Amino acid sequence: MTAPRKITEGDRSVDIAVIGGGVFGASAALRLADAGHSVTLFEAKTLGAGATGAAAGMLCPDVEGCSPGASAEVHRVLKAAAAMWPKWAARLGVPLEADGSLWLTPAVPALGPVEDLSADLPDLAASGLVPMGYRFPDDRRLDPAVLIGQLRHHMAQQGVTLREHTPIEAVEATASQAQIVVYETRHRFDYVLVATGHRVPPGVRLQDGWQDQLMPIRGQGVLMKAPAPDHILRGQGVYVCPVAAEVCYVGATMEVGVAEPVSAPEALRPLMEKAAKTLWPQLMRAAILDYKVGIRPGSKDHLPKIGPTKDPTVWAILGGHRNGILLSPWVADHLVSQMTTAEAATSA
Ligand SMILES: Cc1cc2nc3c(=O)[nH]c(=O)nc-3n(C[C@H](O)[C@H](O)[C@H](O)COP(=O)(O)OP(=O)(O)OC[C@H]3O[C@@H](n4cnc5c(N)ncnc54)[C@H](O)[C@@H]3O)c2cc1C
Repeated sequence: MTAPRKITEGDRSVDIAVIGGGVFGASAALRLADAGHSVTLFEAKTLGAGATGAAAGMLCPDVEGCSPGASAEVHRVLKAAAAMWPKWAARLGVPLEADGSLWLTPAVPALGPVEDLSADLPDLAASGLVPMGYRFPDDRRLDPAVLIGQLRHHMAQQGVTLREHTPIEAVEATASQAQIVVYETRHRFDYVLVATGHRVPPGVRLQDGWQDQLMPIRGQGVLMKAPAPDHILRGQGVYVCPVAAEVCYVGATMEVGVAEPVSAPEALRPLMEKAAKTLWPQLMRAAILDYKVGIRPGSKDHLPKIGPTKDPTVWAILGGHRNGILLSPWVADHLVSQMTTAEAATSA
């Protein structure tokens, strides 16, 4: 692989094209503009139209970091990302709801013994279940639509040029410049940053090993009209996230390999039933308000991929997996520091 071309002190303002207006692309675009660079963000649809717009907005590093398939390194990275959120949310003006979460699960060795959560979930206890699990008072949540709205606002303030409804057809790179192809026309930039979620445009030559790690995972959720719980409730393969006083987000399917962002409500029926029976009985006869669907940029090791591609002027941030919202400030931070100073890294 050719050595990545770093932005040096002398290159005060470089022209950077960011492809993809999800939470990864928009957060990185803002951080690069903060650093004084000239940034243009190209989004095929509208900002947040991909996985980001379908997300529940939970920031739960322990539940996710101790779930099956997640390593100690994943847990460490998620914790580090969670620690960045209070400052990042304040800078963006995004309210963080700090109502914590309850995880109903058999004992997880890394977390110690489970406790009886009946006092927190009296309706569930009354139905005959003894809810055993863990309490995470520091878990937070946000509204992804508000996050995207604030990223849009701050990007505009920092001079990021936003081109929505502009799908990039291809990326063509040389050692000193990169071109993107839009409507059969070529545009030159000093750097291109690929943040296109579960697939990359033609011409992007990812580092060896990355393509094997990345996979689409369709996720479906449903907004239901029911009194919301005081905390995020997590169970085995299902969660109930409070959204508003009378609105709950019930999620989410994990459909590995499925890349069509189309709702299949029949897949949600078992999920809704499980949520009502094992987490929140108030959902039993609740009305459906809306369906959510998105394709997660899955990563087999659950870690995001951050770094240069095989072309020194083309970089990528991919693989947010189940926690791209949580990871976004950490990914943007690592991207900016890798692009400007440190040695090239291959992944998180
Ligand atoms: C149902 C569901 C629930 C989730 N819940 C949570 C949660 O509670 N907490 C959490 O942290 N994470 C959650 N996630 C995961 C999180 O949503 C993703 O990891 C994150 O949004 C990925 O962000 P991204 O910017 O990489 O991708 P995306 O949001 O998919 O953005 C990629 C963007 O690139 C654009 N694009 C693609 N190709 C091109 C092209 N050629 N030219 C121009 N633009 C292009 C797309 O239109 C898209 O807008 C959830 C995901 C799903 C599906």
